[in-house]
Amino acid sequence: MNAEIIAVGSEMLTPERVDTNSLYLTAELNKIGVEVAAKSVIGDDRERLAEAVRRAVARVPILILSGGLGPTEDDLTREAVALALDRKLLFSEEIAAALERRFAQARRKMAEINRRQALVIEGAAVLPNDRGTAPGQWVEESGAVVMLLPGPPHELNAMFERQCLPRLARIVPRLAIRTLFLRVAGMSESDLDQLIAPVYKKYENPATTILAANGDIQIHLRARCATPAEADALLAEVGAPIEALLGDRIYSRNGDPLEAILGGLLRQNHATVSVAESCTGGMLGERFTSVPGSSDYFLGGFITYTNAMKIEMLGVLPEMLEQFGAVSKETAEAMALGARRRTGSTYALSITGEAGPDPGGKAPVGTVYVGLADAAGALAVDRQFLGDRQRIRTFTTQMALDLLRRRITRA
Ligand code: ATP
Repeated sequence: MNAEIIAVGSEMLTPERVDTNSLYLTAELNKIGVEVAAKSVIGDDRERLAEAVRRAVARVPILILSGGLGPTEDDLTREAVALALDRKLLFSEEIAAALERRFAQARRKMAEINRRQALVIEGAAVLPNDRGTAPGQWVEESGAVVMLLPGPPHELNAMFERQCLPRLARIVPRLAIRTLFLRVAGMSESDLDQLIAPVYKKYENPATTILAANGDIQIHLRARCATPAEADALLAEVGAPIEALLGDRIYSRNGDPLEAILGGLLRQNHATVSVAESCTGGMLGERFTSVPGSSDYFLGGFITYTNAMKIEMLGVLPEMLEQFGAVSKETAEAMALGARRRTGSTYALSITGEAGPDPGGKAPVGTVYVGLADAAGALAVDRQFLGDRQRIRTFTTQMALDLLRRRITRA
């Protein structure tokens, strides 16, 4: 079953405001097996809004509007929906009396304009609002339901949860929803899609979404079935070949980020780690320490931005820097070995690279080396990333964390 959401209010079209109500509503609808097919933001314009309501009602059985239920002239949702559904707006003495009582409790006299909030669309059920003045409305129209909810999130959330969800339960077929959530590192989104699309494209259910950011890819498979057992079986059927294709590029099955997964592996192995960073200036250490309890395995690190610091803090040899340059396999290895030697950690990771935007040395912008040292010695891998300085640096920290994760899991 599909739904549409319309966020109402000209202020929602300004750069200062974000329509967060639709995110909340989408999450709640998804939980009961309803997909959001479209959402829009519409300013305080009665005709435009009425037109959007007409179109939505013709397309989907559930339409939710948020906002525009206040007392002022520009609060037009009631009028627009009445216009779209060709129904009258009726004045409710009961709502007006309740509003007056609410104002009296706050020792205020109700302004005349608040009486607009007592206008109810013909045939609508009123949804009381114990957190604000604007009551909501639930209107049924030839097989579709239209909900008018207040804009302030704490009012909308309470009204939707307490009054709309129980009503929706009577309309929406009961569905069991199960999700498989995988996180993958070390691949581009297009390479990943090319690999797994032949599997997931065959199925509309489960629905597959792929989100990529900062060298991290999230794959969500959502199965909706009549029973939990059927949903689990469907997820297994589609998930198993995807997992087999991706192998150990999958680093998380519970949503945890790479630094938390790696932290868990280090702890499990009673191992420790230190870092030596040049172009990332502490970002790798920040990621390790963003995980609560990371003091169990993260010893510390060195931000060695200049050659002098690499020599001084990590014992990198000046002749080596001279011969190969700071952005080189040899320097990355020497930095990792130096960090391990100075801290006594089980593993040490190092990063050196050219983050741009202007090339500083011989290496082209986007060239990065990640070094890894452990009891067996040191190795370094290189990549050429595209993009701006921040992107190159973030991708490099992801690459470093993943290099160590693979080292530990393959050991
Ligand atoms: P009120 O009686 O408070 O005026 P209303 O239903 O008329 O309620 P709006 O005036 O449209 O609601 O919005 C009131 C406030 O609620 C906005 O200023 C904004 O802070 C918040 N709000 C409105 N719509 C949204 C939305 N889609 N997402 C997040 N916040 C919203």
